[in-house]
Order: sequence, then C-alpha cells, then structure tokens
Amino acid sequence: MKAKRLVVVSNRLPIVLNRTGAREWKIRPGSGGLVTAMGPVLRHRGGLWIGWLGIPENDCPSDEYLRDIISAGTDQSGYSLRHINLCKEEIDKYYYGFSNETLWPLFHDLFTHCKFDQGCWDAYQRVNRKFAEEVIRHTDHDDYIWVHDYQLILVARELRRLGFDRQVGFFLHIPFPPLDIFLKLPWRFQVLDALLEYDLIGFQTARDRKNFIGCVRALTDYQVTGRGHVNSIHTDERPVLVGAFPISIDYREFNDFAKTQEVADEAWIIHANLPGRQIILGIDRLDYTKGISHRLLAFENALARYPDMRRRVTLLQVVVPSRRNVEEYEKLKQEVERLVGEINGKYTEVGWTPVHYIFRSIDRQELAAYYRTCEIALITPLKDGMNLVAKEYCASNIEENGVLILSEFAGAAAQLYPNALIVNPYDLEGVADAIYKAFTMPQDTRRMMMRRLRASIQRNDIVKWVNSFLKAGISKELSDFPQMELFVPKQ
Ligand code: UDP
Repeated sequence: MKAKRLVVVSNRLPIVLNRTGAREWKIRPGSGGLVTAMGPVLRHRGGLWIGWLGIPENDCPSDEYLRDIISAGTDQSGYSLRHINLCKEEIDKYYYGFSNETLWPLFHDLFTHCKFDQGCWDAYQRVNRKFAEEVIRHTDHDDYIWVHDYQLILVARELRRLGFDRQVGFFLHIPFPPLDIFLKLPWRFQVLDALLEYDLIGFQTARDRKNFIGCVRALTDYQVTGRGHVNSIHTDERPVLVGAFPISIDYREFNDFAKTQEVADEAWIIHANLPGRQIILGIDRLDYTKGISHRLLAFENALARYPDMRRRVTLLQVVVPSRRNVEEYEKLKQEVERLVGEINGKYTEVGWTPVHYIFRSIDRQELAAYYRTCEIALITPLKDGMNLVAKEYCASNIEENGVLILSEFAGAAAQLYPNALIVNPYDLEGVADAIYKAFTMPQDTRRMMMRRLRASIQRNDIVKWVNSFLKAGISKELSDFPQMELFVPKQ
C-alpha cells in the first residue's frame, strides 16, 4: 500500500524570515522539537507543512517575493510549504489573545493569568477556519492531516463544517487541565466538542489523557472504552482514539554533537572560568509557567541553610526572551532580575558570584557546552507539557556525571522520575534540600542515575514519537510506546 502523504498543520511554519534590507529578506530553518521531529519524516514520505510565517501580513514581502521565498524554503527543507497570512488584528486576538492569554494559562493550571474575551474567541474561530480552508485547498484523499497544538484546536471542527470527511489527527503539546479548571472556560463545550471532531487526539502524558477523559465523561454522554495506552470515545459521528505519546528529542544528534571538539573546548573554558565549583544550570524561555522566581528563592534558601555550598556552587540561569511586547512578561523579567540582584547583593564575595544570569538566546554550541559540563540541571517549572531541556541535558551529558532535579509538574517527570530528584517547585525548602542532595551526591550514584536516564531517552526518542502517533492515527494500531504511569508523589 502506498504510504500516505503527511500534511503537518501548525501555527508557525518551520522557517524564520528576517528582514535584512528595505526589500531584502533572509530565511533560515526554524528550531525546536517539532521541526527536528517532522523534517526527516516529511522529506522521506513526501509532505506539506501549512503554517504562519510569524510576521503580520502588512510587513510581509510582496506576493511574488513571498512565493520565491516559500519555494526556496521548500527547496531547503525538502518538502512543500504553504503560508497563511494573518493581519495585525488576527495576531493580537487569535495568537496573543485567545491562544496565549486564555488557553495557555488555563491549560497550565494558572487560572489567575487568564483573560476571557469574546472578541478574541471570535478571532480564534475565524483563524482556525482560515487554516481549515487552506488544508482543503491543498490536500487530497491520499493525505494524512496532523494538526499541532493549542492554537489550532478548532481546525477539525471547521474542516467537518466544510464537508471534509478524511482522517485528521491532533497533538496537544501543552498539558490538558483537570475538569474543575477546564470548566472555567466560557467556551468549554465548544472546545471539547471541537476536539472530538479529530480521529486521534494525542497528549503528552497519561495524566493529561486522564484529565481529558474526565472532562468527556462529565460533560458528554459518550461512552469511553479501552484501557491502558489508547482509549476510544464513541461520539455520534465516529470513534475518537485518545492516547498518551510523550514527545522526545533527537537523542543521537544531541549525544553526537556533545562529543565534538568545539563543544569540548567550550565546556572546558566554562569550567576553567569557574574553578572548583559545581555549576547548576537553569534554561528557560521567559514565561511564568517556568517557575524562575520560585527557583531563585529556593537557591537562596539553599545558600542560607547549607553554608558549605557557598563559594562552591554557581547557578547559571539562562532566560531566553519570549513574547517581548507583552506587559506581563516585562514584569516577570523585572522580578527575575530583582531577585538575581538581591541574591548576588547578599552573598557575593570577592572571587565568587552566586548567580550568573544570561538574558538572551544562546547558540547550539554554547547550549551543548552547558549541557555537557554543568553538574546539576535545575528544572522546576510550575507546569510544563513535557520540558525538552530536561531530555536534552541528559542526552548531552556524555560524561554521565550530571544530576537532574526535575519538577513533578513537568510532563518529563512521568518518564524520568525514577532517576531524577523530583521536587515540588512551590516547596522552596524541598527544592533547596534537593540542590544540596545533588551537590553532595557521590560520583557512582550520579553515574548510575544518569546512565539510566540517558538509556530511557535513547529508547524513546523523537522518531519513536512520530512513528507511534502515525501508527495509531493511520493504521489504528496501538502504538508500541511503553505504557506511562501517572506520577504520584510519595511521602
Ligand atoms: N532553546 C533555544 N534557544 C535557547 C535555549 C534553548 O531554542 O537559547 C531550545 C531548547 O534547546 C529546547 C527548547 O528551546 O529545545 C525549549 O523547549 P522546552 O520544552 O524545554 O520549553 P518550551 O520553551 O517549549 O516551553
């Protein structure tokens, strides 16, 4: 049987457009897990990616120039691209508004950050319709449509309204909230019904799937069958498969890159500049879900309660700018910088600064050098769909001497908990104790735990993630992903 062509639909296209002159633009490949995961699959099977270029319609190059750029992007990436135009109002209401100020905080259990606005919901529906129309225009019966993430929940609903009866899969990269939180959404029935228009819905963890099934049971009369990895929901129209498919990374790429001479040299320089210290690494996008302020307070608590760590540890906190023109994010930046200043003001001694703070994005080589050389990774989001940094750290830690401290509220905890130090990011003393435990952990324990972490990530890499989703979606076969358990904290 001929393999179906894969059509990926996501908010952003896998290329980035930068203006280099009044009428000149440069394209470069986008970064991130989805591009790494889908690129080879699309190239291999033949495929199409539909998405937005990340800039308002009015700032885009002329249609002709854009056509050239898209065709150059197609040549570069090895599969076809289709660009969706969004005007400034659509970006404000669909992207910044409903996606990032309603669904993002609500689905991350941070209800107090939510804004509910009818105008934004209307724009969200209109833009999802636009994506659906583009899918219909450029696909045929031999295609499998795979829609990604919270910006595009309504695409299948809009496709069905337009008479589209082919299979459509959806993967949610962020968490799915429990019933009591989901109920706060004024458009909860519309969102739930829209999700049930897909043929397959993939979540990051068993907990997200359980939350979703809980909402379906409470808010609909549909029967839910199946146990274990994949459930079926029997709607009036079709059976909807619901599974947990934890996303991963290209293990081999991180592992191999960490072994290169350039990375080794850079890693050596980092430590040569911080002699006799263990480096604790934090890497996050500037976002309130990442728990950066809580983490800084926990580090301060550790310095206060464990004075033998002073002068012997450095927290290297990288914050990657994100959503720069949103006021809430500017306030968060100020709060983080105030805390860094406060801790450094209190504890710095000649020759030792406790927190090294970097506010910019870093390149691949610098990132790999930090991953390879830092003795402790401190990853404490208040809530996170998966957290790829946790997996990248382990894959790059080729000396196998790093310790992973990981929030129990990161999706990655469900897979990595047996060999990481799992913490509740709100429990500052608990996080401080974990930092001290990592700091004093003997080499052989570190090595044993890191080896197991690396083996688990290697077994369940990004290729396995793509294949298991497509297997469940296209051939309706249960995937071979190991059954993930719910992580439940113990005393
Ligand atoms: N990353 C990046 N630029 C940087 C630092 C990190 O692109 O300067 C990458 C990092 O390698 C990882 C991603 O950003 O792949 C962050 O993914 P994660 O799941 O940890 O968090 P998200 O930002 O998606 O919420």
